[in-house]
Amino acid sequence: MTSPGIWPCPQLAPHPPTRTGRQLTRFDWTAERPYRVRVLAYTCSCRTIVYELLASGGRYVIRRVYQVEPRKETYAGPWLRCEADRMWALILTDEAFL
Ligand SMILES: [Zn+2]
Repeated sequence: MTSPGIWPCPQLAPHPPTRTGRQLTRFDWTAERPYRVRVLAYTCSCRTIVYELLASGGRYVIRRVYQVEPRKETYAGPWLRCEADRMWALILTDEAFL
């Protein structure tokens, strides 16, 4: 995980914690880019890596965005909503190996 402070922090979204969790779940970032998404939640844009919970056609994916030039995106999922919420919580509590 990158350190905060690279960009000004708007303090509007949560910051994934630094490595303290158990990291029992490993994400597979090989999902295809979904067509037409709606952003449901996101982590703070002050970090180099931003995570977004997306809805797409009744399925849910998590997008990992590297804020570099050129911007890089990878996707994990898709899941049903309950599973996606669980995976999102893992990111926010640092219990996932990302
Ligand atoms: Zn921030």
